Amino acid sequence: MKVLKTVFGMTAAAAIALMSTSAFAQSYPDRAITMVVPFSAGGPTDTVARLVAESMSKDLGQQVLVENVGGAGGTLGAGRVAQAEPDGYTILLHHIGMATSATLYRKLAYDTLNAFEYVGLVTDVPMTIVARKDFEPADLKGLVEYVKANKDTVTVANAGIGAASHLCGMLLMSAIDTPLTTVPYKGTGPAMTDLLGGQVDIMCDQTTNTTKQIQGGTIKAYAVTSPERLQVLPDVPTAVEGGLADFQVGIWHGVYAPKGTPADVTERLSKSLQVALKDPNVVARFGELGTVPSPEADATPAALKAKLEGEIARWKPVIEAAGQYAD
Ligand code: ASP
Repeated sequence: MKVLKTVFGMTAAAAIALMSTSAFAQSYPDRAITMVVPFSAGGPTDTVARLVAESMSKDLGQQVLVENVGGAGGTLGAGRVAQAEPDGYTILLHHIGMATSATLYRKLAYDTLNAFEYVGLVTDVPMTIVARKDFEPADLKGLVEYVKANKDTVTVANAGIGAASHLCGMLLMSAIDTPLTTVPYKGTGPAMTDLLGGQVDIMCDQTTNTTKQIQGGTIKAYAVTSPERLQVLPDVPTAVEGGLADFQVGIWHGVYAPKGTPADVTERLSKSLQVALKDPNVVARFGELGTVPSPEADATPAALKAKLEGEIARWKPVIEAAGQYAD
C-alpha cells in the first residue's frame, strides 16, 4: 500500500477525504438550507428565525427555509436536527431551552453536549409577564395577591416543559411560592391566540411575541424581566421594580448543526449569521421587538459552545432543587 502514501505521509483515503471536504465547503451551499425552529409558526422563536434566515439567504446565495417542528418544549425539533445528515443543509435555531431541557428531561432522544456542532449566538430576548386584556389585577403587586387568592382557577400558558415560557412561569410560581395550573402549547404563537381569546389567564413570554400586543392594548402587561425598562415598552415596570426581587431572565438563542458537520461549513454559517446580525433590517426589527442582535464575537461556534456548557451547569441545580422533570 506504499503507493497510496502521499508525500506528506497521509494515506490516499485521508487525502481524498480532506480534498473532498474542502471542495464540499467551496461549493457550499448549492441548494436550500432548512432551519428547524422547534416551536410553532408565528411565535417568538419563529419571528427571530425568519428575520435571520431571510438575511442569511441573501448572504449565502441560497434560501434558508424555516421549518417549524413544535412539541415537547423544543426537544422534538432539536431531536430532528440531531439525527439529520451532518451536511450543513439542516440546522437548528433554538433558545435557552437547549440548556434547561438537558436536565428537565429524564430521557432525551439526543445527548445535548455531544449531538451538535455550534454556529453562534443570535440574540438575548427579555420576557414579559402578561395576561388576557380583562384580567382583574392592575399591577404586578395586585397580580401576585390575586393569583395567591385564586390559585385553583388561574391558568398559565406555556410552550411545554423546556420552553422559555415554562422556565419563566416556574420562576414566577417559585418567586411567589404559589403553584398554578399550566396549559402547554406547541409554541407561544398558539398560546397567544388563546390569551387574546381569553381562554387562558396569564403567560410569561418573550418580547418578540408580546411587544406589538402590549403596544396595541390587546393584552395586559405587568412586568419586563430585563434589568432596565425597555425603550419600546416604557410604561411597563421591571419585575424587580414591581416587587419580585432578583427576577431577571434573558432568553438567549443559538444556531446549531448536527454533530459531524464539517468545521468549514459551520464557519461559513457563522460568518453568514454575523452578516445577518448587522443587517439594518434585522437590527431595526429586533429593536422594535425589544431586543438586540448578539455582538459579532458571540455569533461564533466557540461562544455558543461556552454559553451552552455554562447554562447547563447554571440551571442544573435550580431544576434539581425544583424536582420537576419530564419523562
Ligand atoms: N420560544 C417558544 C416559541 O417560539 C416559546 C417559549 O419558549 O416559551 O413558541
